[in-house]
Amino acid sequence: MFVKGKEAIRMYFYCEDCKKEYPLNTHSYKCDCGGMFRLHKDPHEAVVKHEISLGEFVTPLVPFQVGKLDFLLKMEHLLPTGSFKDRGACGMINALHDLGIKKIALDSSGNAGASMAAYAAAADMECTVYTPDDISQEKVKQIEAYGAKIVKVANGRMKACAAVKQNLGDAYYASHVYNPLFFEGIKSMAHELYDQLGHHVPDYIFMPVGNGTMLIGLFLGFMEIGRLPHFVAVQSSKCAPLYEAYHEVPASPKRTTIAEAIRITKPKRLKEMVKAIRDSGGDVITVPDKDILKAQKYLSHRGIYVEMTSAAALAGAVQFFENGKPDNYKVVIPLTGNGLKR
Ligand SMILES: [Zn+2]
Repeated sequence: MFVKGKEAIRMYFYCEDCKKEYPLNTHSYKCDCGGMFRLHKDPHEAVVKHEISLGEFVTPLVPFQVGKLDFLLKMEHLLPTGSFKDRGACGMINALHDLGIKKIALDSSGNAGASMAAYAAAADMECTVYTPDDISQEKVKQIEAYGAKIVKVANGRMKACAAVKQNLGDAYYASHVYNPLFFEGIKSMAHELYDQLGHHVPDYIFMPVGNGTMLIGLFLGFMEIGRLPHFVAVQSSKCAPLYEAYHEVPASPKRTTIAEAIRITKPKRLKEMVKAIRDSGGDVITVPDKDILKAQKYLSHRGIYVEMTSAAALAGAVQFFENGKPDNYKVVIPLTGNGLKR
């Protein structure tokens, strides 16, 4: 899709509410009316350019058994910087490189920051990452190793988001939440799964959901394929804004969870996330932190070392199918991030 010439001209952002159009290199990150951006492009043009590459590959789909339950693990934690966010970063950085952008800033709880910093380094772009000050040291080291500047912000993820917007200067806001170009990259996972399952869509996909980058990316990808799996979003019972919105239950005070990548109290694309789950006939569930910890241990004792957030999806799938699962159901669990970064 990021092709020079007439295709590129057809691509632009538009407001999901009032439909106002914005060019891709806009320094606005949302519409003047407050609406979030969507990407307009030719639906038949789905080729993401890979001029800037860190060796992306088709991640393996590995059978995995928990008691009588059989799942398929999509090994996203093996991607170049250790998380699925590399798909989005690859897509967005290639597009920004094409637009001639040389300086970016973003906010992240860690994984997206590492992915964007790595791909920005490969594209020779200046990159600043705003993070909450409780981010893990391993993620800080990784982001800094790629040559990006880190700005730590007190009082959580939402404050980091506010800080980057106030201090953008001449930098392009390369947000994995606001900017639709990121989702264009994530879509590749849907197409890979479809190919790996012999041109079938899985019955279920269980995923941890914070800002919903994977959920929305997979939704868009499977829409291109023409059929949706049931999406089941898994959140920690200590921080579950999507669960509350989806099930229309009163909001509870958000606390911290051991799953740092889904420690998101106010996701920006809540409306879009609820729609994706509804359209797929899926569900939103919560799991207690002790089950996340248990799932992480279970995986690592079988040789798979992932971060807590990834384990939340397995904990959710086990809970969802606690009374059994039809054998013919293909249930995919993407492992979102590598345990080495914890
Ligand atoms: Zn608008």
